Amino acid sequence: MSLFSAVEMAPRDPILGLTEAFNADPRPNKVNLGVGVYYNEEGRIPLLRAVADVEKSRLEIQAPRGYLPVDGIAAYSTVVQKLLFGQNSSLLEEGRVVTAQSLGGTGALKVGADFLKRLLPDATVAISDPSWENHRALFQSAGYPVKNYRYYDASSHDVDRTGMLADLNELPPRSIVVLHACCHNPTGVDLAPEDWKKIIDVLKARDHVPFVDIAYQGFGDGIEEDALAVRLFAESGMSFVISSSFSKSFSLYGERVGAISLVTQNRDESARVLSQIKRVIRTNYSNPPIHGASIVSSVLNSSELRAIWEVELAEMRQRIHRIRLEMVRQLAAKGVQQDFSFVSRQRGMFSFSGLNIDQVDQLRNDYGVYIVGTGRICAAALNTRNLDYVTDAIVQVLG
Ligand code: PMP
Repeated sequence: MSLFSAVEMAPRDPILGLTEAFNADPRPNKVNLGVGVYYNEEGRIPLLRAVADVEKSRLEIQAPRGYLPVDGIAAYSTVVQKLLFGQNSSLLEEGRVVTAQSLGGTGALKVGADFLKRLLPDATVAISDPSWENHRALFQSAGYPVKNYRYYDASSHDVDRTGMLADLNELPPRSIVVLHACCHNPTGVDLAPEDWKKIIDVLKARDHVPFVDIAYQGFGDGIEEDALAVRLFAESGMSFVISSSFSKSFSLYGERVGAISLVTQNRDESARVLSQIKRVIRTNYSNPPIHGASIVSSVLNSSELRAIWEVELAEMRQRIHRIRLEMVRQLAAKGVQQDFSFVSRQRGMFSFSGLNIDQVDQLRNDYGVYIVGTGRICAAALNTRNLDYVTDAIVQVLG
Protein backbone atom coordinates (compact mmCIF):
# COMPACT_ATOMS: atom_id res chain seq x y z
CA MET A 1 0.00 0.00 0.00
CA SER A 2 1.37 3.41 -0.90
CA LEU A 3 1.85 6.08 1.74
CA PHE A 4 -0.99 8.23 0.44
CA SER A 5 -3.40 5.58 -0.76
CA ALA A 6 -5.74 6.08 2.21
CA VAL A 7 -5.86 9.86 1.89
CA GLU A 8 -9.39 11.03 1.23
CA MET A 9 -10.32 13.93 -0.99
CA ALA A 10 -11.01 17.02 1.14
CA PRO A 11 -14.34 18.74 0.51
CA ARG A 12 -14.19 21.40 -2.17
CA ASP A 13 -14.31 25.02 -1.14
CA PRO A 14 -17.76 26.07 -2.43
CA ILE A 15 -16.67 29.58 -3.41
CA LEU A 16 -13.56 28.46 -5.27
CA GLY A 17 -15.68 25.80 -6.97
CA LEU A 18 -18.03 28.53 -8.11
CA THR A 19 -15.17 30.50 -9.66
CA GLU A 20 -13.97 27.40 -11.50
CA ALA A 21 -17.44 26.86 -12.93
CA PHE A 22 -17.61 30.54 -13.86
CA ASN A 23 -14.27 30.41 -15.66
CA ALA A 24 -15.41 27.38 -17.66
CA ASP A 25 -18.70 29.09 -18.66
CA PRO A 26 -18.48 30.19 -22.34
CA ARG A 27 -21.36 32.74 -22.15
CA PRO A 28 -19.96 36.23 -22.90
CA ASN A 29 -22.31 38.12 -20.58
CA LYS A 30 -21.67 35.92 -17.52
CA VAL A 31 -21.13 37.72 -14.20
CA ASN A 32 -19.32 36.38 -11.16
CA LEU A 33 -20.87 37.76 -7.97
CA GLY A 34 -19.49 34.93 -5.88
CA VAL A 35 -16.05 36.47 -5.43
CA GLY A 36 -14.66 38.05 -2.25
CA VAL A 37 -12.70 40.92 -3.76
CA TYR A 38 -13.37 44.48 -4.82
CA TYR A 39 -13.52 45.10 -8.55
CA ASN A 40 -13.53 48.61 -9.95
CA GLU A 41 -15.98 50.04 -12.47
CA GLU A 42 -13.93 48.37 -15.25
CA GLY A 43 -14.36 44.99 -13.56
CA ARG A 44 -10.71 44.75 -12.51
CA ILE A 45 -8.94 44.46 -9.15
CA PRO A 46 -7.43 47.94 -8.80
CA LEU A 47 -3.76 48.59 -8.15
CA LEU A 48 -3.97 51.67 -5.95
CA ARG A 49 -1.88 54.65 -7.03
CA ALA A 50 -0.45 55.07 -3.54
CA VAL A 51 0.72 51.44 -3.72
CA ALA A 52 2.18 51.77 -7.23
CA ASP A 53 4.11 54.91 -6.19
CA VAL A 54 5.78 53.15 -3.27
CA GLU A 55 6.52 50.07 -5.34
CA LYS A 56 8.26 52.19 -7.92
CA SER A 57 10.53 53.86 -5.39
CA ARG A 58 11.24 50.55 -3.65
CA LEU A 59 12.35 49.08 -6.93
CA GLU A 60 14.62 52.06 -7.53
CA ILE A 61 16.43 51.77 -4.20
CA GLN A 62 16.96 48.04 -4.80
CA ALA A 63 16.05 47.18 -1.21
CA PRO A 64 17.83 44.11 0.19
CA ARG A 65 15.70 41.10 1.19
CA GLY A 66 16.99 39.96 4.55
CA TYR A 67 14.76 38.27 7.13
CA LEU A 68 12.32 40.44 9.01
CA PRO A 69 12.02 40.11 12.77
CA VAL A 70 9.55 37.36 13.83
CA ASP A 71 6.84 39.96 14.54
CA GLY A 72 7.48 41.89 11.32
CA ILE A 73 8.22 45.52 10.53
CA ALA A 74 8.03 47.71 13.65
CA ALA A 75 6.89 50.81 11.73
CA TYR A 76 4.10 48.71 10.24
CA SER A 77 2.84 47.63 13.66
CA THR A 78 2.76 51.26 14.75
CA VAL A 79 0.58 52.35 11.82
CA VAL A 80 -1.71 49.36 12.32
CA GLN A 81 -2.21 50.36 15.95
CA LYS A 82 -2.96 53.97 15.05
CA LEU A 83 -5.53 52.93 12.46
CA LEU A 84 -7.22 50.61 14.92
CA PHE A 85 -7.12 52.67 18.10
CA GLY A 86 -6.81 56.24 16.76
CA GLN A 87 -3.87 58.64 16.63
CA ASN A 88 -3.88 59.55 20.32
CA SER A 89 -5.03 56.40 22.04
CA SER A 90 -4.08 56.23 25.72
CA LEU A 91 -3.78 52.44 25.39
CA LEU A 92 -0.87 52.92 23.04
CA GLU A 93 0.83 55.37 25.38
CA GLU A 94 0.38 52.93 28.25
CA GLY A 95 1.99 50.11 26.26
CA ARG A 96 -1.17 48.02 26.48
CA VAL A 97 -1.23 46.95 22.83
CA VAL A 98 1.09 44.51 21.10
CA THR A 99 0.96 43.91 17.36
CA ALA A 100 2.61 41.39 15.09
CA GLN A 101 2.51 41.42 11.30
CA SER A 102 0.61 38.43 9.92
CA LEU A 103 -0.15 36.64 6.65
CA GLY A 104 -3.35 38.55 5.99
CA GLY A 105 -6.29 38.58 8.32
CA THR A 106 -6.44 34.79 8.03
CA GLY A 107 -2.92 34.50 9.41
CA ALA A 108 -3.84 36.75 12.32
CA LEU A 109 -6.84 34.58 13.15
CA LYS A 110 -4.68 31.46 13.00
CA VAL A 111 -1.89 32.87 15.17
CA GLY A 112 -4.48 34.20 17.62
CA ALA A 113 -6.32 30.88 17.75
CA ASP A 114 -3.12 28.90 18.35
CA PHE A 115 -1.99 31.33 21.05
CA LEU A 116 -5.35 31.23 22.85
CA LYS A 117 -5.46 27.44 22.66
CA ARG A 118 -2.39 27.30 24.91
CA LEU A 119 -3.91 29.83 27.30
CA LEU A 120 -7.52 28.59 27.35
CA PRO A 121 -7.38 24.98 26.15
CA ASP A 122 -10.92 24.11 27.23
CA ALA A 123 -12.76 27.17 26.00
CA THR A 124 -15.61 27.25 23.50
CA VAL A 125 -15.41 29.53 20.48
CA ALA A 126 -18.56 31.26 19.24
CA ILE A 127 -18.99 32.75 15.78
CA SER A 128 -21.96 34.54 14.23
CA ASP A 129 -24.66 32.65 12.36
CA PRO A 130 -23.77 32.97 9.55
CA SER A 131 -20.11 33.92 9.43
CA TRP A 132 -17.18 33.85 7.07
CA GLU A 133 -16.85 30.06 6.75
CA ASN A 134 -13.13 30.08 7.48
CA HIS A 135 -13.80 31.32 11.03
CA ARG A 136 -15.21 27.94 11.97
CA ALA A 137 -12.51 25.99 10.15
CA LEU A 138 -9.66 28.04 11.61
CA PHE A 139 -10.75 27.69 15.22
CA GLN A 140 -11.62 24.04 14.77
CA SER A 141 -8.20 23.36 13.32
CA ALA A 142 -6.70 25.02 16.41
CA GLY A 143 -8.59 22.36 18.41
CA TYR A 144 -11.59 24.34 19.60
CA PRO A 145 -15.26 23.39 19.52
CA VAL A 146 -17.07 26.13 17.55
CA LYS A 147 -20.64 27.18 18.21
CA ASN A 148 -22.87 29.76 16.57
CA TYR A 149 -24.55 32.72 18.19
CA ARG A 150 -27.67 34.05 16.49
CA TYR A 151 -26.89 37.05 14.31
CA TYR A 152 -28.85 37.43 11.09
CA ASP A 153 -32.61 37.61 11.00
CA ALA A 154 -33.67 36.75 7.44
CA SER A 155 -37.20 38.10 7.83
CA SER A 156 -36.14 41.61 8.85
CA HIS A 157 -32.82 41.55 6.94
CA ASP A 158 -31.33 42.87 10.14
CA VAL A 159 -29.48 41.68 13.25
CA ASP A 160 -31.38 39.39 15.61
CA ARG A 161 -30.41 41.55 18.57
CA THR A 162 -32.35 39.70 21.24
CA GLY A 163 -31.16 36.31 20.00
CA MET A 164 -27.57 37.42 19.81
CA LEU A 165 -27.47 38.80 23.36
CA ALA A 166 -29.29 35.74 24.73
CA ASP A 167 -26.83 33.35 23.06
CA LEU A 168 -23.78 35.28 24.26
CA ASN A 169 -25.23 35.15 27.76
CA GLU A 170 -25.68 31.41 27.60
CA LEU A 171 -22.17 30.51 26.45
CA PRO A 172 -19.94 28.97 29.12
CA PRO A 173 -18.04 31.71 30.99
CA ARG A 174 -14.71 32.65 29.37
CA SER A 175 -15.79 31.68 25.88
CA ILE A 176 -13.98 33.20 22.93
CA VAL A 177 -16.42 35.32 20.94
CA VAL A 178 -15.48 36.18 17.36
CA LEU A 179 -17.07 39.45 16.23
CA HIS A 180 -17.03 41.23 12.87
CA ALA A 181 -16.14 44.86 13.62
CA CYS A 182 -17.75 46.16 10.42
CA CYS A 183 -18.95 45.08 6.97
CA HIS A 184 -20.15 41.69 8.18
CA ASN A 185 -19.23 38.86 5.83
CA PRO A 186 -21.49 37.36 4.41
CA THR A 187 -24.58 39.39 5.33
CA GLY A 188 -23.48 43.05 5.05
CA VAL A 189 -25.56 43.69 8.17
CA ASP A 190 -23.70 45.51 10.94
CA LEU A 191 -24.28 46.29 14.59
CA ALA A 192 -25.21 49.81 15.67
CA PRO A 193 -23.19 51.68 18.35
CA GLU A 194 -25.82 50.96 21.02
CA ASP A 195 -25.69 47.23 20.14
CA TRP A 196 -21.96 47.18 20.70
CA LYS A 197 -22.40 48.69 24.15
CA LYS A 198 -24.87 45.98 25.14
CA ILE A 199 -22.63 43.26 23.71
CA ILE A 200 -19.64 44.59 25.61
CA ASP A 201 -21.69 44.55 28.84
CA VAL A 202 -22.58 40.90 28.31
CA LEU A 203 -19.05 39.87 27.36
CA LYS A 204 -17.71 41.63 30.44
CA ALA A 205 -20.29 40.12 32.77
CA ARG A 206 -19.61 36.61 31.38
CA ASP A 207 -15.84 37.09 31.33
CA HIS A 208 -15.78 36.19 27.64
CA VAL A 209 -12.78 36.86 25.44
CA PRO A 210 -13.58 39.20 22.52
CA PHE A 211 -11.83 38.33 19.26
CA VAL A 212 -12.57 41.26 16.97
CA ASP A 213 -12.06 40.58 13.28
CA ILE A 214 -11.72 43.73 11.18
CA ALA A 215 -11.04 42.85 7.56
CA TYR A 216 -12.81 45.78 5.89
CA GLN A 217 -11.81 48.95 7.73
CA GLY A 218 -12.72 51.87 5.48
CA PHE A 219 -15.18 49.89 3.33
CA GLY A 220 -18.22 50.65 5.50
CA ASP A 221 -18.63 54.25 6.62
CA GLY A 222 -15.02 55.44 6.84
CA ILE A 223 -11.69 54.60 8.44
CA GLU A 224 -12.51 56.05 11.85
CA GLU A 225 -16.20 55.11 11.81
CA ASP A 226 -15.47 51.46 11.00
CA ALA A 227 -13.12 51.20 13.98
CA LEU A 228 -15.89 52.05 16.43
CA ALA A 229 -16.16 48.53 17.85
CA VAL A 230 -12.41 48.40 18.46
CA ARG A 231 -12.54 51.81 20.17
CA LEU A 232 -15.45 50.75 22.39
CA PHE A 233 -13.67 47.56 23.44
CA ALA A 234 -10.59 49.66 24.14
CA GLU A 235 -12.63 51.94 26.41
CA SER A 236 -14.17 48.96 28.18
CA GLY A 237 -10.91 48.10 29.91
CA MET A 238 -11.12 44.46 28.76
CA SER A 239 -8.27 42.41 27.40
CA PHE A 240 -9.01 41.32 23.85
CA VAL A 241 -7.64 40.18 20.50
CA ILE A 242 -7.93 41.83 17.06
CA SER A 243 -7.23 40.40 13.62
CA SER A 244 -6.94 43.04 10.92
CA SER A 245 -6.20 43.00 7.22
CA PHE A 246 -5.16 45.32 4.40
CA SER A 247 -6.20 42.89 1.68
CA LYS A 248 -9.26 44.97 0.82
CA SER A 249 -8.42 48.47 1.99
CA PHE A 250 -5.13 48.49 0.04
CA SER A 251 -6.27 46.04 -2.64
CA LEU A 252 -3.26 43.87 -1.74
CA TYR A 253 -5.03 40.50 -1.56
CA GLY A 254 -2.18 38.34 -2.79
CA GLU A 255 0.53 40.07 -0.76
CA ARG A 256 -0.94 38.76 2.52
CA VAL A 257 -0.77 41.86 4.70
CA GLY A 258 -2.51 41.62 8.06
CA ALA A 259 -1.83 41.94 11.76
CA ILE A 260 -2.71 40.44 15.09
CA SER A 261 -3.03 42.92 17.94
CA LEU A 262 -3.65 42.08 21.56
CA VAL A 263 -4.83 44.48 24.22
CA THR A 264 -3.43 43.67 27.63
CA GLN A 265 -3.72 45.24 31.07
CA ASN A 266 -0.20 46.65 31.30
CA ARG A 267 3.26 46.89 29.74
CA ASP A 268 4.56 43.88 31.60
CA GLU A 269 1.76 41.64 30.33
CA SER A 270 2.35 43.04 26.85
CA ALA A 271 5.97 41.91 26.83
CA ARG A 272 5.05 38.40 27.91
CA VAL A 273 2.15 38.13 25.45
CA LEU A 274 4.28 39.32 22.54
CA SER A 275 6.98 36.80 23.41
CA GLN A 276 4.41 33.99 23.14
CA ILE A 277 2.92 35.33 19.91
CA LYS A 278 6.42 35.33 18.47
CA ARG A 279 6.81 31.75 19.55
CA VAL A 280 3.67 30.75 17.66
CA ILE A 281 4.89 32.56 14.56
CA ARG A 282 8.42 31.20 14.80
CA THR A 283 7.20 27.61 14.88
CA ASN A 284 4.79 28.17 11.99
CA TYR A 285 6.59 30.17 9.33
CA SER A 286 9.48 31.83 11.17
CA ASN A 287 8.90 35.41 10.00
CA PRO A 288 6.61 37.29 7.62
CA PRO A 289 7.27 38.59 4.09
CA ILE A 290 8.51 42.13 3.47
CA HIS A 291 6.81 43.52 0.41
CA GLY A 292 3.17 44.16 1.36
CA ALA A 293 3.80 45.43 4.87
CA SER A 294 6.56 47.74 3.72
CA ILE A 295 4.17 49.27 1.17
CA VAL A 296 1.46 49.81 3.77
CA SER A 297 3.81 51.33 6.31
CA SER A 298 5.40 53.60 3.69
CA VAL A 299 2.02 54.85 2.51
CA LEU A 300 0.67 55.44 6.00
CA ASN A 301 3.86 57.13 7.17
CA SER A 302 3.82 59.65 4.33
CA SER A 303 1.19 62.37 4.67
CA GLU A 304 1.12 62.82 0.91
CA LEU A 305 0.65 59.14 0.06
CA ARG A 306 -1.77 58.65 2.91
CA ALA A 307 -3.97 61.41 1.52
CA ILE A 308 -3.94 59.70 -1.89
CA TRP A 309 -4.82 56.36 -0.29
CA GLU A 310 -7.68 57.87 1.68
CA VAL A 311 -9.18 59.26 -1.51
CA GLU A 312 -8.79 55.91 -3.28
CA LEU A 313 -10.33 54.05 -0.35
CA ALA A 314 -13.24 56.51 -0.26
CA GLU A 315 -13.76 55.95 -3.99
CA MET A 316 -14.03 52.19 -3.47
CA ARG A 317 -16.42 52.65 -0.54
CA GLN A 318 -18.57 55.18 -2.37
CA ARG A 319 -18.71 53.15 -5.57
CA ILE A 320 -20.07 50.17 -3.66
CA HIS A 321 -22.65 52.35 -1.99
CA ARG A 322 -23.73 53.90 -5.29
CA ILE A 323 -24.08 50.53 -6.97
CA ARG A 324 -26.19 49.28 -4.06
CA LEU A 325 -28.53 52.25 -4.43
CA GLU A 326 -28.68 51.74 -8.18
CA MET A 327 -29.49 48.05 -7.78
CA VAL A 328 -32.39 48.87 -5.45
CA ARG A 329 -33.60 51.56 -7.85
CA GLN A 330 -33.45 49.29 -10.90
CA LEU A 331 -35.25 46.41 -9.21
CA ALA A 332 -38.07 48.74 -8.17
CA ALA A 333 -38.16 50.38 -11.62
CA LYS A 334 -38.39 46.94 -13.24
CA GLY A 335 -41.54 46.22 -11.28
CA VAL A 336 -40.25 44.02 -8.44
CA GLN A 337 -42.86 44.20 -5.69
CA GLN A 338 -40.58 42.97 -2.94
CA ASP A 339 -38.78 45.74 -1.04
CA PHE A 340 -35.04 45.47 -1.72
CA SER A 341 -34.11 48.68 0.09
CA PHE A 342 -32.28 46.64 2.72
CA VAL A 343 -29.49 46.20 0.14
CA SER A 344 -28.69 49.90 0.40
CA ARG A 345 -28.50 49.72 4.21
CA GLN A 346 -25.95 46.92 4.13
CA ARG A 347 -22.26 47.76 4.46
CA GLY A 348 -19.10 46.50 2.84
CA MET A 349 -18.59 44.26 -0.16
CA PHE A 350 -21.29 41.73 0.54
CA SER A 351 -25.00 41.60 0.44
CA PHE A 352 -27.33 38.88 1.61
CA SER A 353 -29.78 39.17 -1.27
CA GLY A 354 -32.55 37.01 0.18
CA LEU A 355 -32.52 34.91 -3.02
CA ASN A 356 -33.13 31.24 -2.28
CA ILE A 357 -31.13 28.28 -3.54
CA ASP A 358 -33.51 27.60 -6.46
CA GLN A 359 -33.27 31.21 -7.57
CA VAL A 360 -29.48 31.10 -7.21
CA ASP A 361 -29.38 27.94 -9.36
CA GLN A 362 -31.64 29.50 -11.96
CA LEU A 363 -29.51 32.65 -12.11
CA ARG A 364 -26.48 30.53 -12.82
CA ASN A 365 -28.03 28.02 -15.21
CA ASP A 366 -30.21 30.38 -17.23
CA TYR A 367 -28.29 33.65 -17.06
CA GLY A 368 -24.67 32.91 -16.15
CA VAL A 369 -24.97 35.03 -13.00
CA TYR A 370 -22.94 33.27 -10.32
CA ILE A 371 -23.91 33.75 -6.66
CA VAL A 372 -22.98 31.75 -3.55
CA GLY A 373 -25.69 29.25 -2.53
CA THR A 374 -26.61 31.29 0.55
CA GLY A 375 -27.66 34.19 -1.70
CA ARG A 376 -24.55 36.21 -0.85
CA ILE A 377 -23.78 38.70 -3.59
CA CYS A 378 -20.49 40.55 -3.88
CA ALA A 379 -21.84 44.05 -4.47
CA ALA A 380 -18.28 45.15 -5.25
CA ALA A 381 -18.34 42.97 -8.38
CA LEU A 382 -21.29 44.92 -9.81
CA ASN A 383 -20.69 47.87 -12.11
CA THR A 384 -22.76 50.11 -14.35
CA ARG A 385 -22.15 47.78 -17.31
CA ASN A 386 -23.26 44.49 -15.74
CA LEU A 387 -25.92 45.77 -13.33
CA ASP A 388 -28.72 46.07 -15.87
CA TYR A 389 -28.18 42.48 -17.01
CA VAL A 390 -28.03 41.24 -13.40
CA THR A 391 -31.18 43.05 -12.27
CA ASP A 392 -33.01 41.78 -15.40
CA ALA A 393 -31.99 38.25 -14.46
CA ILE A 394 -33.08 38.75 -10.84
CA VAL A 395 -36.46 40.04 -12.02
CA GLN A 396 -36.87 36.86 -14.09
CA VAL A 397 -36.00 34.45 -11.29
CA LEU A 398 -38.22 36.27 -8.81
CA GLY A 399 -41.02 35.48 -11.26
N1 PMP B 1 -12.12 37.96 8.12
C1 PMP B 1 -13.17 38.15 7.32
C2 PMP B 1 -14.49 38.44 7.93
C3 PMP B 1 -13.02 38.08 5.93
O1 PMP B 1 -14.08 38.27 5.15
C4 PMP B 1 -11.75 37.82 5.39
C5 PMP B 1 -11.49 37.77 3.92
N2 PMP B 1 -12.44 37.33 3.09
C6 PMP B 1 -10.69 37.63 6.27
C7 PMP B 1 -10.91 37.71 7.63
C8 PMP B 1 -9.30 37.29 5.79
O2 PMP B 1 -8.70 38.25 5.08
P1 PMP B 1 -7.28 38.01 4.37
O3 PMP B 1 -7.58 37.82 2.93
O4 PMP B 1 -6.54 39.24 4.66
O5 PMP B 1 -6.66 36.80 4.97
